[in-house]
Amino acid sequence: MVVKIYKFKGFLEGMKGILVILDGLGDLPCKQLKGKTPLEAAKTSTMDKLAQMGITGQQHTIGRGITPGSDTAHLALFGYNPYEVYTGRGPYEASGTDLPVKPGDIAFRTNMATIKDGIIVDRRAGRISKGTEEIEKALQNITIEDVETIFKVGIDHRAALVLRGPGLASEVTGNDPKVEGKRPKSIISTSPEAEKTARILKQYIRQASEIMETLKINEKRISEDKLPANYLLVRGAGKAPHVESFQSKYGLTAECVAGGGLYKGVASICGMKINNDHQGTGGIPTDLPSKVRAAIKSLERSQFVFLHVKGTDNLGHDNKPIQKMEFIDEIDIAIEPFLDLIPETLICITGDHSTPCMMRDHSSDPLPILMTGEGVRPDQVTEFGERPTMRGGLGHIDGQQVIPIMLGLIGRVHKFGA
Ligand code: ZN
Ligand code: ZN
Repeated sequence: MVVKIYKFKGFLEGMKGILVILDGLGDLPCKQLKGKTPLEAAKTSTMDKLAQMGITGQQHTIGRGITPGSDTAHLALFGYNPYEVYTGRGPYEASGTDLPVKPGDIAFRTNMATIKDGIIVDRRAGRISKGTEEIEKALQNITIEDVETIFKVGIDHRAALVLRGPGLASEVTGNDPKVEGKRPKSIISTSPEAEKTARILKQYIRQASEIMETLKINEKRISEDKLPANYLLVRGAGKAPHVESFQSKYGLTAECVAGGGLYKGVASICGMKINNDHQGTGGIPTDLPSKVRAAIKSLERSQFVFLHVKGTDNLGHDNKPIQKMEFIDEIDIAIEPFLDLIPETLICITGDHSTPCMMRDHSSDPLPILMTGEGVRPDQVTEFGERPTMRGGLGHIDGQQVIPIMLGLIGRVHKFGA
């Protein structure tokens, strides 16, 4: 075991922090990996070095016995109480498409879909991917009563819709039947306060559909025997919350490097700057080295950086333990440049929830976590994995404690008491 005592200009002075979240990292022992988890079986010389120099442990992002979604888990890891600031997925998804969501807005996740004779033929409009800007442009500046609407296309058939105006509420159901060959569900308000919202939303969808029918892109798609994008399916209504910015909460300027819209959205609602100067995709394949370079660039400008990698979660959902292990191998190689940031930067690596391959979904199992940097008191763990970190010096912590612990380790916590 290497014992390292850092020599630095001023202890903890000017230290920065980077939080690396590997989505769905945690797993269970896999038969295909001879009883190891993908992380345990992966070749992780970088993460093992970081574990050896640093302190490790286990964390439950939201709480013991709770299976987190990615959005709520990230909010908790940024130190926010998801039960207070999570108001549905809509506002976070909308924020991630660069739609500037304001507190009080009602936001929806939206699919561009194909409808024929009142029946949803395809929920994804033939997986439309090109030319959707025309749809975005055509659906701008639609005002219904005193409510402004903002529509923004995302990747492929995905889009976001925001209603902005007085007297709106988020207690409305969506119209997505979730299967093809059925009529859209009728939109209903589940509270008296949301009656106006339901009325506006229904009218908007009708109006949008009429406009979409007339667009060149659909004329072209039909002539090419492709399904037209002539209907909007909305779901996940949420009222954009008031969230104290990361900077005012912690006194740190923060940037986010992520591919997936939801993660950019969560970071952006928390007031982080989004660094899009990379080729990461938010899935697989992706360009991990370019994300790591972007994160290092962000760290030159800002005091805190959040780097997100999504693929680990996808491979858990797909029950692909070998590929999950190989993807972790790739991550480990990609993050090697982070070793040069030590000791001036505190590096924290963890996941947002476990996505065990055999469950094909998220689970309530805790995540391994490591923190390495100048002010850290190293423990005796020399390997980053679900089981080795059970013996770590951080013990078992809550997700909402991660940033406060990081702040303590970079000398940014004020004394409580005299
Ligand atoms: Zn996740
Ligand atoms: Zn997932």
